[in-house]
Amino acid sequence: MRVYPKFILSATDAAHFPAPSAPEIAFLGRSNVGKSSLINALLGSKQAHVSSTPGRTRAINFFSITDKPERQQAQMIFADLPGYGYAKISKSISAEWPKFINPYLAERPTLALCICLVDSTIPPQPSDIQLIEYLQSRERSLLVIGTKADRLSGNERVKAMNLLRKGLNVDGLLFCSAKTGAGMSELWQTIQSAASE
Ligand code: GDP
Repeated sequence: MRVYPKFILSATDAAHFPAPSAPEIAFLGRSNVGKSSLINALLGSKQAHVSSTPGRTRAINFFSITDKPERQQAQMIFADLPGYGYAKISKSISAEWPKFINPYLAERPTLALCICLVDSTIPPQPSDIQLIEYLQSRERSLLVIGTKADRLSGNERVKAMNLLRKGLNVDGLLFCSAKTGAGMSELWQTIQSAASE
């Protein structure tokens, strides 16, 4: 599906969030998990590269998504959150995340789905477990994506899937590859149904 993303703004403070309008889809993950690659693959554009611009990496970057270029009203909004897990031993995300992140996740009224990216090639990480527990405690809809699935053989994929499901305490888990496009249409379907609820 062809979509038209438009950068709205970069917020480093809750006062700068855009006024709530269309359903929002938040993208979360440790730095280097493949978040910008996945967003770019989803959007078929280089727009998400804004997130790697210095100064914007500790911000929430908002993009409006429409299915027609001439349409003014966003069909949905993507919120690209800062990567976490910079510190080698990162016991607490909240210790390294800017203060406005938790209020966004807990209170944003239009937040329809949290897409949590985890690296499918490594075991569940404490910071991922902590984030998912937090979102579950807030009763947020969430979808866990195992990224870089192209790096695993069929056998390894089954093992990794079980390990992640158990370690992260989630039922559903979708493996994706920004490189091969695997899992992308399922991901789009989930996003679209969350945005139209
Ligand atoms: P971010 O920091 O989460 O935005 O991660 P990036 O999208 O910049 O990706 C981090 C690294 O992982 C880069 O070297 C990418 O080339 C690599 N990467 C991202 N997605 C994939 C994927 O689907 N498959 C493979 N094999 N590598 C990937």
